[in-house]
Amino acid sequence: MSDHQQRRILEVIQGLNYEFSEFTLPHFIAYLVKLRQRPIILQAIPLEEEIHGIWLQVPHADYVLYNWNDHPLHQVHNVLHEIGHILLDHPCYPIPEILPPELLAKLNGISIVQMRGQFRLVEPVRPDDEREAEMFVRELQRKIMFADRLDELARPTSSISAIERYTRNLGYHG
Ligand SMILES: [Zn+2]
Repeated sequence: MSDHQQRRILEVIQGLNYEFSEFTLPHFIAYLVKLRQRPIILQAIPLEEEIHGIWLQVPHADYVLYNWNDHPLHQVHNVLHEIGHILLDHPCYPIPEILPPELLAKLNGISIVQMRGQFRLVEPVRPDDEREAEMFVRELQRKIMFADRLDELARPTSSISAIERYTRNLGYHG
């Protein structure tokens, strides 16, 4: 990770002007939705164990799908990782080029073929983007820690159930 990359990540986080003393996962997501004037739709779905998270970019929304087979603490991390890709403006790729057909079939609630996305696999498609998204999560965790809100990450079950409530409140059922 170069100094340049790290500086850019810090600038992106700084540029959010987010008050980390108010951090909870749903509060942070709601803030980003308002800031960007663009829905972020979170959805837990059963995924193969080698896939931890997916960001899908569609014309009027960003979907963040996370693996409900992962440990809740891991799920929070993976949601923040995908949000890192979104905020760092990483490129997305046509879905059929990067997703195996059996996984495509599992995402049938969403008309996915026209979508572009980022996938968190064990073997990343673009290692640089993966490192940047992980760095984003680490810097975010530092901000959350300094704001004395680490409990909000350390209680992953309530965080994850809170975002599930949040998606329901917005009327997104997937
Ligand atoms: Zn990733």
